[in-house]
Amino acid sequence: MDARFLDTLRCPVDPERAATLHRDREHLECDGCGVRYPIKNGLPVLIADDADLPPGCDRRLDLPCQQRLAARRKQKK
Ligand SMILES: [Zn+2]
Repeated sequence: MDARFLDTLRCPVDPERAATLHRDREHLECDGCGVRYPIKNGLPVLIADDADLPPGCDRRLDLPCQQRLAARRKQKK
């Protein structure tokens, strides 16, 4: 996978679309939330439902980036 291509990718679960990804063997791992996306046939599958959550995190809603979003939504009310 081309490094420049990797630079353009962002974590799809990050509400700010700011978190970058790095290669970890057969996965791309988010630098923000730690979610791991599989690489199939050389192509990253950036689909939240197909991704592995980081250890100790059972639900996507428990990820720090999702918690920040929830906190911001609460402030707006
Ligand atoms: Zn992320």
